[in-house]
Amino acid sequence: MTQQRNNFQADPLSVLTDTFGRLHNNLRISITDRCNLRCTYCMPEENVNYLDRAEILSYEEIVKFIRIVSKLGVNKIRLTGGEPLVRQNVHELITQINQIEDVEDLGLTTNGILLESLAEDLYKAGLRRINVSMDTLSEETFKKLTRREGLDKVIAGIKKAQDVGFDPIKINALSIRGITEETLVDLADFSRETGIEVRFIEFMPLDADNEWERDKVFFAAEIIETLSKEIMPLVPVQTEKTSPSTSYEFKDGIGKIGIIASVSRPFCENCNRFRLTADGKLRNCLFSMEETDIKSALRNPQFNEEELLDQIRSSIQSKNAGHAINTAQFIQPDRPMNSIGG
Ligand code: SF4
Repeated sequence: MTQQRNNFQADPLSVLTDTFGRLHNNLRISITDRCNLRCTYCMPEENVNYLDRAEILSYEEIVKFIRIVSKLGVNKIRLTGGEPLVRQNVHELITQINQIEDVEDLGLTTNGILLESLAEDLYKAGLRRINVSMDTLSEETFKKLTRREGLDKVIAGIKKAQDVGFDPIKINALSIRGITEETLVDLADFSRETGIEVRFIEFMPLDADNEWERDKVFFAAEIIETLSKEIMPLVPVQTEKTSPSTSYEFKDGIGKIGIIASVSRPFCENCNRFRLTADGKLRNCLFSMEETDIKSALRNPQFNEEELLDQIRSSIQSKNAGHAINTAQFIQPDRPMNSIGG
C-alpha cells in the first residue's frame, strides 16, 4: 500500500483513489454468472436469467483488462462467479494472470462442489489462496439453503485443497437468523480441528427474491457471544486495515474466526475493492446502482487504452462513501448476487 501512496504522490493518475481518499488496489472479477447451486440468499429457485455466452468476457479480454488496470496500482485479484469453477479451464486463466508481473495476490472464491476434482490443476496453475463458501455442516440445512445436495463434496474439496497445499484456505459462512445459528459451533469446531479460518458473514440484501430483512440477520455481536459461551472466549487479533473481516482466535489459541459484519459494523471507510461483472461492467461498490460498461471499450476495433483508463478512474471517482443498508434511502441493487460476484 505504501508503494501505491508513493506512486500517488509521484503521479496521482497512477493509482485509483476515490474522493474519500481510499486507494483501490483490489479487483474482484466475476468470470461467470452461472452456478451449480441455487442458494436462497443469492439466486431465484427457477427461471434464472443467465447472461448470453456472447455477453461474457473471454479469458483474453479479462487478462487484457487486468494488464491495463494493474497500471493503476491494482495488484490484488479475486476470481468469483456465480460459481467460477463451472466455467471451463479456469486453470488456464490463472496461468495467464500469474504471468502479469504487477499482480501480487490472486485468490478465488468457490462453493467447493467441483473443488476436489480441480484442486490440483488450479494449484499447478499457480493459485494459492482459496475461499470456500460453506454455510453449515448440517446436510439438512445445506439442502435447505442451497436447494441442492453436495455438502460431502464441499468437505471433500476442502480436504483436497488442504492436501494439495493451498494456503490460506478460508471458509465463508453466511449468518442468517433462524437458519444457521444451529451450526455456528460446529463450524468453529471445524476450524479448531483443521486450522482453517472460518469467517461468518452477516446476511446482506443481495438476494434475487428481495426477501432480505434486517431481523433475518444473525449479527456479529450474537455470533461472538454464542461462540464465547459455547466454546470459550474469543480474543481479537491483528487484522489488515482494508480487510472486510475482523479476526479472532479462541483463548487457547486454537481455531481462527473471522467476522464480516457488513450490516451492523460496516467497513466501507477502508474499502479498497471494486468489481468487474462477467458481462464486462465495472461496479465501484457491491451495492452500487451505477455501472460502467468496459466491454465495449475492450471490444472496440479502435481500442484506446487511455480512454479505458479514464473510464476506470471516473468509476472510482464517483464511488459513494459506503452502502446505505442502515438508512431509509437504501435500494437493493437490481442485479442478484450471482451476477455481481462475492
Ligand atoms: S459496501 Fe461498497 S463501499 Fe462498503 S465495503 Fe462493500 S464494496 Fe466497499
